[in-house]
Amino acid sequence: MALMIVESCTACDACEPVCPNDAISAGNPIYVIDPMKCTECVGAEDEPQCKLVCPANCIEQNPDWVEDKDDLLAKYQQLHG
Ligand code: SF4
Ligand code: SF4
Repeated sequence: MALMIVESCTACDACEPVCPNDAISAGNPIYVIDPMKCTECVGAEDEPQCKLVCPANCIEQNPDWVEDKDDLLAKYQQLHG
């Protein structure tokens, strides 16, 4: 699954630079994750880097994007082909 940012985001900007897929951007008022680009960090890291650094604990699974590990890896390879 892609991840998503929920409303308790404080727009602190900690997550944006750590995403290996450039999937995170500033929104109005909260930051947003592009589900076409988020691989839960599969392909690049052992765990989601944005969740590791988020002080507000506001990054969750996106229920509209059900993908298994193979799907996420394929997405990563497509992005970084
Ligand atoms: Fe980016 Fe990884 Fe967070 Fe997805 S889980 S938005 S790929 S840092
Ligand atoms: Fe929002 Fe968390 Fe990203 Fe900060 S690290 S901008 S609180 S999602």
